[in-house]
Amino acid sequence: LDAKEEFTHTTLAADVMRPRRNETPLSVLTQDDMTVEDLEMMINETTYNGFPVIVSKESQRLVGFALRRDITIALENARRKQEGIVSSSRVHFTQHAPTLPADSPRPLKLRSILDMSPFTVTDHTPMEIVVDIFRKLGLRQCLVTHNGRLLGIITKKDILRHMAQMADQDPESIMFN
Ligand code: ADP
Repeated sequence: LDAKEEFTHTTLAADVMRPRRNETPLSVLTQDDMTVEDLEMMINETTYNGFPVIVSKESQRLVGFALRRDITIALENARRKQEGIVSSSRVHFTQHAPTLPADSPRPLKLRSILDMSPFTVTDHTPMEIVVDIFRKLGLRQCLVTHNGRLLGIITKKDILRHMAQMADQDPESIMFN
């Protein structure tokens, strides 16, 4: 491949991340305005291994990543052992509980299961670099942002699928060398 050709073959993080254009949006959690019931529904209605946590739907600022496994365990424990946790209990990933009306049920604090530094790349990052980061850091997933707003997610399987496609279309691809 000469340099020009190589450039035309460059795939970007935006081309591999989910969701694709027209797909249903990412399943995300907001940091302090969901209830225990909202979270249980999210867990029951999806199969994703994890969920980005954002400040709010409006801002789409990423605050971390929470694994399904950890959320499931935390919810079960809270339901079983924590006095006062009910369906309408507010869930917060923040350090302090949000200000709630005086008669609100006890909130559930989930900060301890939040990965506050999930790996992130911008949508313009070449996949060659993303693949390299996955390999070197042994990542399971990576989040994609644009101007600080959360756009998508790339999992290890997404990368393997992408590499298989590249190998089909373009056996000389630099990805495989
Ligand atoms: P895997 O890619 O190993 O099957 P997941 O089950 O977590 O892992 O993800 C399945 C697909 O859904 C992947 O293509 C991934 O990019 C996408 N995905 C992962 N997490 C989410 C999420 N929270 N919201 C929307 N899509 C997601």
